[in-house]
This record gives sequence, structure tokens and C-alpha cells, in this order.
Amino acid sequence: MTSEQTHVIVGASLAGAKAAETLRSEGFDGRIVLIGAERERPYERPPLSKDYLRGEAGREKVYVHDERFYEEQDIDLRLGRTATRLDTSNRELELDDGERLRYDRLLLTTGAEPRRLDIPGAGLDGVLYLRSVGDSDALRDRLNHGGAVVVVGGGWIGAEVAASARQRGLDVTVIEAASVPLERVLGAELGAFYRDVHTGNGVRMLLRTGVEAFEGETAVQRVRTSDGRELDCDLVVVGVGVQPRIQLAAQTGLAVDNGILVDERLQTSARGVFAAGDVANARHPFYGESIRVEHWANALNQAPAAARNMLGRATAYERLPYFFSDQYDVGMEYSGFARSWDRVVFRGDPASREFIAFWLIQDRVVAGMNVNVWEVNADVQALIRERVAVDDRRLADPDIPLGEVAQLEKGGVA
Ligand SMILES: Cc1cc2nc3c(=O)[nH]c(=O)nc-3n(C[C@H](O)[C@H](O)[C@H](O)COP(=O)(O)OP(=O)(O)OC[C@H]3O[C@@H](n4cnc5c(N)ncnc54)[C@H](O)[C@@H]3O)c2cc1C
Repeated sequence: MTSEQTHVIVGASLAGAKAAETLRSEGFDGRIVLIGAERERPYERPPLSKDYLRGEAGREKVYVHDERFYEEQDIDLRLGRTATRLDTSNRELELDDGERLRYDRLLLTTGAEPRRLDIPGAGLDGVLYLRSVGDSDALRDRLNHGGAVVVVGGGWIGAEVAASARQRGLDVTVIEAASVPLERVLGAELGAFYRDVHTGNGVRMLLRTGVEAFEGETAVQRVRTSDGRELDCDLVVVGVGVQPRIQLAAQTGLAVDNGILVDERLQTSARGVFAAGDVANARHPFYGESIRVEHWANALNQAPAAARNMLGRATAYERLPYFFSDQYDVGMEYSGFARSWDRVVFRGDPASREFIAFWLIQDRVVAGMNVNVWEVNADVQALIRERVAVDDRRLADPDIPLGEVAQLEKGGVA
């Protein structure tokens, strides 16, 4: 080992593991310590609501690296250890067993945790959340018993759990406050598409309502909704969003606001301290504002960028947000970032379940989602990134390749 430096990563999940891998692949030969509160070596979460939850994929599928990787790469992986205190003036990190680690560079990949409901009966047995592989195991055990499940929240986790539970033959009800599921990200039209996908598969959707209470002796037996219904159930899964784990950063005075604030190079307000993944609210060069992205691809790609910056190789992180979801036989990829838009243009008929949807502001595409249509993602991203003016009719015309919509518009031929 030629470098005397120690780089410490807090959070041994996808982002943390990819950062450790990148430090080595970029030639850092000093000490790397990767600290994880969970006892499991770093794993990926998307299968936990999909094939792993349904028992169709085994544990090996979820791990980021094989078991030998950390030893082979001389990465000091500390599992079941929580970082409890950070002292940025002395560049020191304290763990829950009292150990103090000096660092030269520190990366915070502490992720996010489910928002908890604080309503009567919230502590009853059978009211479950889904974030960890242990949560997924526990939920799978319950699904194996069949019965009726109430899913609270029609976001991505709720929608995927509802789909998996239906696929396992359970009776499923989703309760969602908005008028359609997934409304916040996708809006009314595409939310309605997913509502229909679910109801077509036998899910009961209770929309524009909330949950007042969970009832039962020791285990949940009933859900009381805010519009006065009582739903008998054997199980509840709550998926009402996540919150970034900022405690360690906030306690030491790092700038936080909806996550740990970082610049384009993923550097926090303290020198030598970086953040990436679900916890980072990062300045995005393309959007000119800070965005926090709670998706797999962001953890996968942003953390390596942070690692390069830890090594002094100035790397701005400017990938467009991207995520995917699989529900029943409907797979999709979404690219871009849109809080508002004027309209949605479809290429293909949503009823066929093979189409691309584009969200537009004036004549610019700000986001795109391909549903059961593949290998178009690069073209969708190019339309967004190039900010070319597009014509709705050409965008909707499946006979015009997506790449040519952009080129022709740039040349002004259309
Ligand atoms: C069930 C499920 C399904 C998903 N499906 C999809 C999908 O289909 N598509 C998609 O794009 N995204 C999906 N996601 C989101 C994706 O998994 C997350 O964006 C990704 O896990 C973020 O990775 P991360 O490493 O930033 O954070 P996390 O995965 O949250 O990991 C953070 C880690 O840090 C540890 N930690 C926190 N604080 C400390 C501390 N003080 N000391 C030590 N360790 C600490 C935590 O224990 C945790 O292991 C899904 C998420 C879930 C839960």
C-alpha cells in the first residue's frame, strides 16, 4: 500500500458499495472502510418488491458483489455497525461500539427510510413496511399465508407490492389519497393507466381517501378509512414515501434541506465530506437546481462520481434521472424530471400496453416513459437533454424514429 490515506464510507448499500469499488478501480490503494448498519453485505432493493418478494428469485440475486469481493479488494467492510457521531473539524467518525476512525475523505451514503404512520393501531402486529431484505422476507412469509392485504399508499412501493401480492393470489386493496395512483410523478393520465392495470388484475383501488386507524386485538384485523369504510384484512403494508437519513450530517452542522446538500461534485458543506444516493440533494448542472433522486440508477452512478471526486478527479454528476418499475406484465423506464408540464403526448396506444409517453412544456420534452417498448431510452434521453423543439404529431408518429424527430427539428425541416 503506497497511500497512507483512509477513505471512509458510511452506508453499505448500493451507493456505498459502488463507491468503494470505484475508489479501488480508480487506483486508490489506501485504506477503505465501508460501514453498514445492516448485517447483510451490500444489496440492491428493487427485487425486494418484485421477484424476490414473490419467491421467484433467491438471495444471491440481490447482492451488489459476491462474498469474496470485499476481501479481494481489501475493503474493510464493517457490517452491523452504525456511525453515531461525526466531527468534521478533526475528521473523525465515531461508531456505536465507541471506535473512532480518522478519515481523509468521507462519503455519506446513508440512504432513506420509510415514513411511518402515526395513527391509532400503527404498532399492531401485521402492519408492515418495506425497505430491507429482512422486511421483504417477513412480508413474503405473510403473503404465503394468503388472505387479504391492504396497501396504504399508491406510490411505487405500494403499486409494486400490490402487484406482487395479487400475483401470489391475495385479495388486495390499495388506499391512496390522490385521485389516481402514482399521480405525483406521472400525473393524471399515466396514473389512470396504472389504476386500470391494477383494477384489471383484480386490485380494489380506494382513491381520494386516507387511513384513520388500524384495529385489532394484538394483530391488525381491520383498516378504518377517512371516508368511513371498514376493511377486514390479515395484513397491512404501508408505503407512504421515504425520508432521507440525514441525522449524522445534521448533527454535525452540515447543510441539509430535503437531504444532505451537495454541489455538482457531490461535495457537502464540509471539506472532504461527500454524499451520494438517496440521501443527497445534489445540484444538477442540467436543471440548474438541487434535486434528490430516490432511485436505483442514481445510487449506482452518482456514488462512483462521488468516489472520483474524493480522489480529486473533478467530476460533475449530470446524468438525467432514470428509474424503472415492473408490475404484472407491464415494465417501464422513465427518464427526466418534471414537476409540472403542459401536456402528455403518446406514441402508441396505452390500451395496447406498448407505448411511449412524453411530458412536454411548450415544445420541449421534459420527461419520457417507455412502457413495454425497449431500447429507446437513449433516444428519449437525447430529446430531453438536447432541448430541441418538437412537434406533437411527429413525436406521436411511430413511423418516425425518435432519433430523427430530434434531428429534423434541429435542422428546421419539419
Ligand atoms: C422495495 C424497494 C423497491 C425498489 N424498487 C426500485 C425500482 O424498481 N426502481 C428504482 O429505480 N428504484 C427502486 N428502489 C429505490 C432504490 O432501491 C434506492 O434508490 C436505492 O436503494 C438507494 O440506495 P442508497 O445506497 O443511496 O441508499 P439505501 O439503499 O437506503 O442504503 C443506505 C444504507 O446506509 C445504512 N446506514 C444509514 N445510516 C447509517 C449509519 N449512521 N451508520 C451505518 N450505516 C448506515 C442503512 O442501513 C442502509 O443499508 C426501490 C427501493 C425499495 C425499498
